[in-house]
Amino acid sequence: MKSSPSTVFITGCNRGIGLELVKQFLGSEKGPKHLFATCRKVSDELKELESKNKNLHIIILEVTDYDSFPKVVKQVEEIVGEDGLNLLINNAGMIPADRDLKSVTPEAMRQAFEINCVAPLMLSRALLPLFDKAAAKAGNKTARNAHRAAIVQMSTAVASIAENEFGSYYPYRASKTALNQCMKSMSIDLKDRGILTMAIHPGWVQTDMGGPNAKITTQTCVSEMLKTIDQLDDKDHGAFLRYNNTPIPW
Ligand code: NDP
Repeated sequence: MKSSPSTVFITGCNRGIGLELVKQFLGSEKGPKHLFATCRKVSDELKELESKNKNLHIIILEVTDYDSFPKVVKQVEEIVGEDGLNLLINNAGMIPADRDLKSVTPEAMRQAFEINCVAPLMLSRALLPLFDKAAAKAGNKTARNAHRAAIVQMSTAVASIAENEFGSYYPYRASKTALNQCMKSMSIDLKDRGILTMAIHPGWVQTDMGGPNAKITTQTCVSEMLKTIDQLDDKDHGAFLRYNNTPIPW
């Protein structure tokens, strides 16, 4: 991405794909004016990036701590002012260890649903007033895009019911399918507000979650994903896309 959206908010930035997103947004030719990177615990790499980039703001956030959201929104609002927020990437997510038919537990199902679906929905809703500001600033005639106002939900291809050929992964699959459904509803509910919503699959990526045998590095995943996000427009409102801008069947 040559030119970053002006104000960007990403969850789960201490490691993995989230950390690489932060690096590549900061490294873009025209970086963001303000980049909000949330994490539960600041990693050394994120801390180092903060020391070198005045536009990087680290926010401590457990994404299921809904009571903390008003404070977070206020914190962001005080910095972005009337610019509002252009782009949210709900990246934080998890796969419970108890995932197959034999081991899956009610607790694993609930935990995945809460972190992978409920939290991104609630955070997106909490930040809507800031998206409204950004969308209004761009003007009514501007098409939807990630430089105006956009909510990107980090989904996964294994959320696709059509592509489920291997079974298992009950908590992860079901919670991300639910995330996709919430994203789709938001795209309809927000249709007149100039805010684009979509879900993206980052690929099978070499992170703690993806494991060492995954197909692509975080660098490749994020550079491709940012190209896709950069090109989003009205036709992608409510879409479910792979990192390389190809559609995934529901
Ligand atoms: P990692 O396991 O490497 O990182 C997960 C990130 O999410 C960490 O920053 C973690 O923080 C954060 N997180 C988890 N739970 C919470 C929580 N309750 N509150 C706040 N932060 C939380 O995963 P990836 O980087 O690989 O995955 C990022 C996203 O991409 C996820 O949504 C995942 O589902 C999706 N994805 C990944 C794929 C892959 O192959 N890697 C494939 C398809 C989708 P902490 O360090 O504190 O635990």
